[in-house]
Amino acid sequence: MKTKNIEKIIQPGTPHFVGDGFRVHNFIPSNIRMKRMDPFIMMDYNETYNFPPTDKPKGVGVHPHRGFETVTIAYKGKIEHADSAGGGGIIGEGDVQWMTAASGVLHKEFHETEWSKTGGEFQMVQLWVNLPAKHKMSPPKYQAITHKQLTKVALPNNVGHVEVIAGNYNDNIGPATTFSPINLYNLKLNKGAVTQLSFPANYNTALVTIQGYVNINSKNTVKQDHLVLFDNVGETFTINALEDATVLVLSGEPIQEPIAAYGPFVMNNQQELVQAFEDFNTGKFGYLEE
Ligand code: MN
Repeated sequence: MKTKNIEKIIQPGTPHFVGDGFRVHNFIPSNIRMKRMDPFIMMDYNETYNFPPTDKPKGVGVHPHRGFETVTIAYKGKIEHADSAGGGGIIGEGDVQWMTAASGVLHKEFHETEWSKTGGEFQMVQLWVNLPAKHKMSPPKYQAITHKQLTKVALPNNVGHVEVIAGNYNDNIGPATTFSPINLYNLKLNKGAVTQLSFPANYNTALVTIQGYVNINSKNTVKQDHLVLFDNVGETFTINALEDATVLVLSGEPIQEPIAAYGPFVMNNQQELVQAFEDFNTGKFGYLEE
């Protein structure tokens, strides 16, 4: 198999707040256009940030989504979620929430009430995963995946382990079900660990250094909180942890359909976007209390 080289390393840009609870660097589409990372069409990264204690949880109030899935991975802190399709719960440290908005939901995302009272370090990733046209109007779905449910695979010589969220790592399958082929892992590497990953060349592949700094392919050193975009030529890359590290790895087969995106809606054409606004404005996304 050929080496998969780095196309670019992206440092976190100027952060902005989503609502008042998520201080994020937007990697996709600000730094990488939607089509380039298809099916991953949005990535907000809240690097570790300290929120002071408050009795009024911070976050984002009721808003709609249609045509894709939101995937929230909590590294530090806790998030409380509820949606108009009846999905909801608390996403704790290490947990993953996989919400399929599909035909449409209203949801709200806040820091968890009790956690807010003490506050502290908060770190998370939110990804938007596009849906193939034939699934965009499927019923909404909700997968609450606890850290315990992630598929954990030890690396040889005990140098760390892989937590498989979705897809497969050496025939170990992650718990999340997806609508197109996706691999999503957390790599937990001890200092000095060297490991190789392989994905089909045509899959769009990237990683985020959640904690620690690493070297890729014995060539490029990558600092914490950076995104690495790989090219679509080879299959295999090597990660060497220069200190204890957590790395989020994402790789997916491109859906290769037209993307028409506006705000919280991601469809295939303009007409479907107009329809999404009309359906939202006429209450077809259901009801959710503020
Ligand atoms: Mn949302």
